[in-house]
Amino acid sequence: MVFFNLPLPSAIPPSTVTQTQAVPYITQQYRQRRQESERTGTFKRKYERKTDVILCKKCLRERKPPSHLQYFGNWYCEESETQTYVEWRTGLEKLGFGKKKPGNDNPPAS
Ligand SMILES: [Zn+2]
Repeated sequence: MVFFNLPLPSAIPPSTVTQTQAVPYITQQYRQRRQESERTGTFKRKYERKTDVILCKKCLRERKPPSHLQYFGNWYCEESETQTYVEWRTGLEKLGFGKKKPGNDNPPAS
């Protein structure tokens, strides 16, 4: 079956005019600046500075993989944890992390 009356999004040719209209002016400016700096090689990532490094509370080292793994908001610290990651994660699963609580998805109808 073919629906001739339905205008498919793919049928509309991509136009730079409609694209720029949909994007806010500030975003346009940002994209333009970023493209320029990417071209010239001066693009800097804002969040990769030393001051933004998150330290692990357990080992006081930089909290990043592979020695630090996150599981549903909990951080596994390889440096100070006695369990393996799998054991640690299993323990969290027993506490209810990573599981949907039964009944939450289907509230009683009446
Ligand atoms: Zn740590």
